[in-house]
Amino acid sequence: MVTSTPRARTIVGLEIHVQLATRTKMFCGCAVRTDAPPNSCVCPVCLGHPGSLPVINRRAVEFAVRAGLALNCTIATFTKWDRKSYYYPDMPKNYQISQYDLPICAKGHFDIPTSDGPKRVRIRRAHLEEDAGKNLHDVPGCTLVDLNRAGTPLLEIVTEPDIASAEEAYTFATELQRLMVHLGVSEGIMQRGHMRFEPNVNLLIEHDGREYRTPISEVKNLNSFRSVRGAIAFEEARQLEAWLEDRNYVMGSRPNENRGWLDDRGVTEYQRVKEAAHDYRYFPDPDLVPVTIEPAWLDQLRATLPEAPVARRQRFVETLGLSPKDADTIADHRPTADLFEAVLAAGARVEIAGKQFVNVWLTLANSAGVSVDALGVSPAAMAELAVITDEGVINRSAVGQIAEAMVAETRKQGNVETGGGGPSPRALAESLGLVQVRDTGATEAWVAEVFARNEQAVRDALANPKKAAAAAGFLRGQVMKLSGGKADPKLVGQLIEERLRNS
Ligand code: ZN
Ligand code: MN
Repeated sequence: MVTSTPRARTIVGLEIHVQLATRTKMFCGCAVRTDAPPNSCVCPVCLGHPGSLPVINRRAVEFAVRAGLALNCTIATFTKWDRKSYYYPDMPKNYQISQYDLPICAKGHFDIPTSDGPKRVRIRRAHLEEDAGKNLHDVPGCTLVDLNRAGTPLLEIVTEPDIASAEEAYTFATELQRLMVHLGVSEGIMQRGHMRFEPNVNLLIEHDGREYRTPISEVKNLNSFRSVRGAIAFEEARQLEAWLEDRNYVMGSRPNENRGWLDDRGVTEYQRVKEAAHDYRYFPDPDLVPVTIEPAWLDQLRATLPEAPVARRQRFVETLGLSPKDADTIADHRPTADLFEAVLAAGARVEIAGKQFVNVWLTLANSAGVSVDALGVSPAAMAELAVITDEGVINRSAVGQIAEAMVAETRKQGNVETGGGGPSPRALAESLGLVQVRDTGATEAWVAEVFARNEQAVRDALANPKKAAAAAGFLRGQVMKLSGGKADPKLVGQLIEERLRNS
């Protein structure tokens, strides 16, 4: 019998639960908080008391639409609510309010960067639902239930199985998180469980001219990007091995299964056979009215949709001419990117402003442990610093010192909160004595003094070709030092060269 080596292709679809950044819950007025004492943000609605009536949170609907638009989805003009029945101690109603056959968003796509260029992942649907509470197992011998999270709005996003590797899933997850934060629809803090990923993984195996599909594993509740990548990579290996051992390990012969990820061991483990939709006995929620979305409101949301981070990075590189690395750094955080664009709009040249933004402002912000916009320096003041550098009013070595003084002054004046302030860098350069001296006479006098004081270096520069460059550099440094950093380095270089030539 002739056999070839089996070739396996990985097929992944992702389900993502995104916690929306509303102040209150999906169907009641209770606050959404993670820092409150257990069971303090609850009411008859989210506790599921009989006779209580849910009311739809308009803001959650708006966030879902924003996310759907950014994912290029079709937004339903008519959408309704369904009860998804299941029993858990952390869900006292015994059903979850969700959307079954008429999700608010459907048929979109999201392009992610890969080493082979952009890759399109289709979005099957995105629907609104409420979260369950939390079972706590930290007290021995019993399970405690905290219902503060019960009723928190979630957007469940479901992709088509277009993702072909653990690495692509990792990229998709990180880019989606960036997008949600950028849109302001989620805080996207992974450590707080704001985004939970559930990859559906199986393999298409080609062997001896036949195709085999392994059963789908759904890995439940992954709350880090690393675990998304790890769980998929583990499933790829596990499923191939399972099929090699048992050729009946294929869809139809073996059930799809739910698996859990054990982070400390880096493996998935079997939990149970995957539920089918009919297990949930979905039916329309009789307590909630359907939602009709007005075209005018939709147009308004569409018009105010911010540019996606991926598109912005691309524009920063292609239109503004930033390096991909600088574009990544600046576009990663929306207020930072907005501030950068405001600096350019205020008249700074991108060549200077880009470098200053990354090397000076971001560095100052990082060491203060805040984002650049929180430094409180206005875009006009940042632009002015770039302009006076460009004009040669100050030299590049003085930029950091002036920027530092701008931040300190802004703090002193109490302008950090308004972001409207900060002293003029031009005035600061003057008061700090950092205005560049481009007066040839004054610079010549400094050069003459340095030549007189450093005869050996001058002789080296003249006589020894091996030492000439180093000696000239040394002399230049001495002149800059003597001038207190105010000399124009270019002019100094020219004058030193001239003087050596004429010696
Ligand atoms: Zn409530
Ligand atoms: Mn769900």
